[in-house]
Parts: sequence; C-alpha cells; structure tokens
Amino acid sequence: MNVLVLNSGSSSLKYQLFNMKTEDVLAKGLVERIGLDKSVITHKPTGKAKKELTQDLNNHKEALKIVLNLLVDKEAGVISSMDEINAVGHRVVHGAEEFSESALVTDEVYKAIEKCEVLAPLHNPANKMGISACSEIMPNTPQVAVFDTAFHQTMDATSYLYAIPYKYYEKYGVRRYGFHGTSHKYVFYKTAEFLGKKPEDLKVITCHIGNGASITAIDGGKVVDTSMGFTPLEGLVMGTRCGDLDPAILPFLMNNEDLTAKEMDKVLNKESGLVGLSGISSDMRDILKAAAEGDEKANNALNVYTYRVLKYIGAYTAALNGVDAVVFTAGIGENSVPVRKKIVEKLGWLGVQLDEEANKVMGEEKIISTTDSKVKVLVMPTDEEYMIAKDTYEIVKKHNI
Ligand code: AMP
Repeated sequence: MNVLVLNSGSSSLKYQLFNMKTEDVLAKGLVERIGLDKSVITHKPTGKAKKELTQDLNNHKEALKIVLNLLVDKEAGVISSMDEINAVGHRVVHGAEEFSESALVTDEVYKAIEKCEVLAPLHNPANKMGISACSEIMPNTPQVAVFDTAFHQTMDATSYLYAIPYKYYEKYGVRRYGFHGTSHKYVFYKTAEFLGKKPEDLKVITCHIGNGASITAIDGGKVVDTSMGFTPLEGLVMGTRCGDLDPAILPFLMNNEDLTAKEMDKVLNKESGLVGLSGISSDMRDILKAAAEGDEKANNALNVYTYRVLKYIGAYTAALNGVDAVVFTAGIGENSVPVRKKIVEKLGWLGVQLDEEANKVMGEEKIISTTDSKVKVLVMPTDEEYMIAKDTYEIVKKHNI
C-alpha cells in the first residue's frame, strides 16, 4: 500500500510518498510560492535525478496536480498511475479538544477541522486547502487527518488549565493544547523500541529543539505536560519566538511603544528568541559561530536558550516523579554537539553522565550518556512524515477501505 503524506502551508505544499509494505520513501518534494508568481517545485524521486520546475500555480489544487503528474511521470515518476496511491495522510495543525487521535476524513471531520480554525487561523485553513484539493482530484482515495495536537490530548486538566478566569476556557477554549505532537509521539515510541523497553514502562522527556521548539513529559505513552501552550509561542526559546515570559510585559510594551495587538504578536513570534536576543540570526549555527568569536549577545542568546531547556527538564522530572530517558530531536537536538553538551553536562544531579565521544553524533539514533548513567540520554531523529503515513495506513486498514 502506498500512502501520500501532504503538509500544506499557506503558500507551500510538502509531500512524501511511502510504500508502507517496505516502509520506503518513493519520492518527496516541495512546492513553494503557491498563489504568487513563479511557484517553484522541487521533486526528489528516490534513486533518480532531482527535478526542479518553475511555473505559476494559483492554488493548492493546481499544486497537487503538478505533484501527481510528477509522481507518475515517465522519467521522474515512481508509480505508473494515480491508482497506486491508496491513501493520503494530511498534517493538520490544530485538532483542539475534538481530536485525540488521527481521523478518517468525512464531511463531519472536515467540518470539525473547520471549527478548529479559530484556534489556528494561520495553519488550519491551509491544511484544509490540501484536503479539498485531494477531494476534488482524487475523490475515491481515502484521506486521513493527523493532528499536531492529538497526542497531547492525553494531558490532565492540572497541566492544561491556565489560572485565568475559567469562563475563558469555557467560552473560547483557552487552555494548553501543545504542538509537535506527531514528533513527540514518534520519538517516544522509537526510543522505547531502541532501548528494548515496553512503552508503558517508560518515563521520557522528549526535547524537540529546532527552529520551533517544545519539550514534553511522557509517562507510558501518556503526555503529562508539554511546553507549547494555547499557541506554539509558549515554552522554550526558539529561532524567532520568545517562549515563556511575564504576561505583564505585553501591556507594558504595547503602552510604551504604542503597539497594536497585531504588532505585539509580530514582535513575540517573529522578532524574539535567538534573533531577538542576538540581533544576528535565528539560526543556531550562526549563534554558535558568533558566540565562539566572542560576541556577547550571541553568547547570552545561547545561554538563555540552553538554560530554558535545562529548567524544563528539571520541572518535567518532578512532574513525572522521575525519568528514564531524556531524548533530543529536530534540527538542533539531532545535530548540535555543543548545545547538547551545554544542557546535558548540567544534569549530574539527575545521575546523568555525558559520553563526550558518543555525543559527537549528528542525525543518528544513539545513546550519548555513559553506560553507568542512571538516566539515559539519547539522540533520536524525528520523522513526522513517517508517523503520518503509519497512522494513515493503520486507520485505512481498520476501516477496511
Ligand atoms: P528544524 O526546524 O528542526 O529544521 O531545525 C532548524 C535549526 O536546526 C536551525 O536553528 C539550525 O541552525 C539548526 N541546526 C541544523 N543543523 C545544525 C548543526 N549542525 N549545528 C547546530 N544547529 C543546527
């Protein structure tokens, strides 16, 4: 069975085609600048030459048509007809309280995704465009929605309620939802498999640290807490996002800088984090380089960044009442030897000892703590697309489609 995974952004469409029997990726690619002039399509069929095209694409339907044409193309294709795509799995950012697991797309499910739009006005409408495009072009192919928030729906009210008037939770659904759920779930189960442990017996802290960053405390597959909240702004320091701060800073800055709510939102989401602190870049590689050259602001940015992760590991160890493994994933977590070192060498109180040689790993699953370390520390590359394909495959199988 072949599953096409789609991740639709407002002006982009990422795709990967999986053969679920062998779990191989047959092709992947990206369409950018949808709706703008000169959309760019980059298609990478496994074992064949990469293909790049430039063409005006007005909407996601046109983008999907191009992708499907490339997948069946004589030269750059990997399947002989569209009928060989047995199901489509969509990444959907927000499933609110409606979805605690992935769902087969029906009219009802589509309407529920639409209802969640108020909570993710930038993301869900784009995800919905991907679903609509498939419904029009391949109406007989089953579609599954896989939600970024679903895994975190196992959290208790103790973790998800904010201490503001309860009526705002009731009226608007203001609560912690958490994001990157597909990644945290994948990394948790992969860690159990890698360690040869039963998932139900494991307490794990998963650190997804990339341009966006979040950290999750998981007990036996149940999320106890996660750092992103009502939106993906809360928690860790990120490339351009501030993470945790005193909420009183917002009215203070809005008054003193004469900022509208929209302008304030832009400062917190686009101008803060690593780039805000350093004034140099949102990219950790640039921060590390500048800090090594003696730039004080870059050094501050690096310290604030790593200290925030450390603080959360401490808090989540308490929330879990102990921890078996701390796992690093995503761009920085998988690749940055010095960032991991800076965090892990401060975990001695937890019985953790870093194996400096093992920590030299980049982008590979590996234990980076010493063999006598009480708590294991691992690098585990994430694979959200595979997780979406797997969920899609299992749901389609369950429904006997
Ligand atoms: P992601 O959003 O998961 O793609 O991660 C992007 C982040 O990973 C950026 O801040 C990159 O600088 C960072 N990153 C990727 N490779 C490395 C590396 N070798 N060393 C440090 N940071 C890296």
